[in-house]
Amino acid sequence: MLNPNNHIIQALPIIHHIAESAKKEDYKEIIIGSFIRGADKKGACTGHCAGRCIDLNISSRSFESVAALQMVVRILGYLTNLPDKYKKSMGFGMPLQGQFFGHQNLTKYKGVSTTLLKNEELRKLVNQLGYVFPDNDNHLHIQFNWLSKSASNYETEVVYEEGESYENS
Ligand SMILES: [Zn+2]
Repeated sequence: MLNPNNHIIQALPIIHHIAESAKKEDYKEIIIGSFIRGADKKGACTGHCAGRCIDLNISSRSFESVAALQMVVRILGYLTNLPDKYKKSMGFGMPLQGQFFGHQNLTKYKGVSTTLLKNEELRKLVNQLGYVFPDNDNHLHIQFNWLSKSASNYETEVVYEEGESYENS
């Protein structure tokens, strides 16, 4: 498991920035869900295990709501204000529901065109920050690798796989 003594937890400055930005606006809907998890079934430690991903939920729980879209737009807006060093190609997992992709039949965890997103503001923000892929319901997943020289890991291959301990809450 990740040892903070010899491993930079890349999620922490991002979480801090989101929390501080929300605090300034007295916005209280965001729930910081899981971020560091164990290795996957094959023993690989990437993504959540490596401290490079965050899952965010909404206090009202459902991502079907317009409030969930508004929360995600707000969070991505916060991310555009990050210092440049953190703003390398970020990956966003958004659900196949509500005002995100709607209930489309798309393959999860594979990067897709932002044109598949229903909301224009959201499309613009993702285009500015990185790439998007369909993910499990009721959360926003953010992945990043700002320590790497070239963080652009967008491919049409699987961009992300949830670990086995994932819970959809
Ligand atoms: Zn996740």
